Amino acid sequence: MEVIDNTAIPENAPMPAYRPSAFGPVDVGRSRIAKFLDDGSCREWVLSRLHPDGPRCPGCGELIVSYPSLRSFRLGARVRCCCCGKYFTALTGTFLSGCHLSLPQVVLMAILIDAGADDPRIARLMEVSAEGVRGWRLRFRHASGPSHSGQGIEESREAAMGGAVVAGGVSL
Ligand SMILES: [Zn+2]
Repeated sequence: MEVIDNTAIPENAPMPAYRPSAFGPVDVGRSRIAKFLDDGSCREWVLSRLHPDGPRCPGCGELIVSYPSLRSFRLGARVRCCCCGKYFTALTGTFLSGCHLSLPQVVLMAILIDAGADDPRIARLMEVSAEGVRGWRLRFRHASGPSHSGQGIEESREAAMGGAVVAGGVSL
């Protein structure tokens, strides 16, 4: 029979008070914040922007119609074109080709840049180098021309400031 040693617990010990904890923006910022974003939602949005006319082979332009290929394409897996035999993913040939961030991280990078956070702050939050952040600014800038809705204005504003973030910039 198991004997429970409860001699260390004084009788009539007061119950610990119910004290729900809290958190602030700093605590969130100390977490891996990209994990808070839903991977599926980010993927769906990014792919819809990258391929507004539907998923196609970047080699011959053939529309992807088979269910297995469409599924692989949407999951970011490799697809083989049934016409030209080229292997590709949903990012092949796009401005995100070869990027080392997950799609939630890409979305978060864009959110932080759009919110006006400066490079050191974004670098800390995203756990990348400040140089990496500058690379992403350039990548987004080159990818989004004035023809893209809303982004031309933002890019022009940033360009007018010499590419620098506003002094004392907008805090998150
Ligand atoms: Zn093809």
